[in-house]
Amino acid sequence: MKTFSLILSFLLFILSSSAQKTVLLAKNLIDGTGKTVSNPAVIIDSNKIVSVTTKDNIPKGYKIVDLGDYTLLPGLIDMHVHPDLTADDYQVDHLKGSSAGKTLLGLKNVQGLLNAGWTTLRVAGDGDVAYANMEIRNAINKGMFTGPHIYGAAHYISVTGGGGDINFLSPEQKIIPDGLIADGPEEIRKAIRNEIKYGSDWIKILVTGAFMTAGDNPKNVHFSPEELKAAVEEAARRDVPVMAHAHATEGIKMAVKAGVRTIEHGSFIDEEAMDLMIQHGTYLIPTFTIGLYFNEKLADSKSLAKAVDLNKKVRDSVYKNMRLAIKKGVKFGLGTDYVGWPADYSAREFSEYVSLGMTPMQAIMCATKINAEILNKQNLIGTVEAGKLADIIAVKGDPLKNITELQRVKFVMIGGKIVKQD
Ligand SMILES: [Zn+2]
Repeated sequence: MKTFSLILSFLLFILSSSAQKTVLLAKNLIDGTGKTVSNPAVIIDSNKIVSVTTKDNIPKGYKIVDLGDYTLLPGLIDMHVHPDLTADDYQVDHLKGSSAGKTLLGLKNVQGLLNAGWTTLRVAGDGDVAYANMEIRNAINKGMFTGPHIYGAAHYISVTGGGGDINFLSPEQKIIPDGLIADGPEEIRKAIRNEIKYGSDWIKILVTGAFMTAGDNPKNVHFSPEELKAAVEEAARRDVPVMAHAHATEGIKMAVKAGVRTIEHGSFIDEEAMDLMIQHGTYLIPTFTIGLYFNEKLADSKSLAKAVDLNKKVRDSVYKNMRLAIKKGVKFGLGTDYVGWPADYSAREFSEYVSLGMTPMQAIMCATKINAEILNKQNLIGTVEAGKLADIIAVKGDPLKNITELQRVKFVMIGGKIVKQD
């Protein structure tokens, strides 16, 4: 009897771990292209989607996973995450934590995000002097761990005294800051060459001051025009796109003119900058969730008092700017500025898009089809269509009626492998 059950469990193991031919059934599919399909049957062979058909056209020999009245969607893509950072006091935590510790934290965080439906992440640099986020990506790509697809930058490049520097210690203290400090076109070129050498497929630059960092002002422009030009040129030489952290109006305009691919935050954008972005095809990633997190969860934090206070003061004008940018037709991607909060919280970003005038369908497309285009991975991810990777999630209700359903993802499949099924 014991032998029999051993053989049975071995067979079950083989069945569940070998390349699967699977059919996903549900009530609805939001495919990421702007369409919905009723009673969909998504045919999956190994890691790819073979076709999207209906329940009465299921081929023989496929394992059926029936998700009942759930809605299927493409796996979500977050364009702005920091898996190795912690929200509450990130610069001090950076000084306390080893790169090994940050690697473990980051791995736990990206797996948590995958479980919440985020199947692809773009890292916007991390507070780690080594390359923890790149090692996490490499380990997942080698199959050592299950995790999301990861793209992005190992570090954020900052000028001395900028958002990636540590500005609260005395001049005698020689420490290694969380960001990569580079001044002048030559140092910036060198920093970018190093980033690419060790695996970054995006370059992240802190063009203006930041909210969170002690001692700098988001309304200041930190990069000189020469530094910006050098950064974008150097990255372009290696076919690597640039994401520019930019709050200040002038910093946004400079970065767009220099040719960056995405503007991160864009808080103090004006109409001229919006027109420039439309003209240059630059994408905007406003990252509302981090602001929500400050207001709701960190309001009493002493170490982040500056960020919380600033955030409160500018919130109304930032939201007004973003409403106008949506109306004018600036291209929006979607990113959260994730810094280690509970993973389900990230989908708050969608509700903010809807409150600012997007339809739920448009907001979903930002985090799927459009984000895939920004990554230049539209042939692989972003929609549920034949030939794409089988990165598919499901929620219980209809997110087109209630966008908060995305905060309660019930089913996650990545590359044809089911990693969550409630
Ligand atoms: Zn960020």
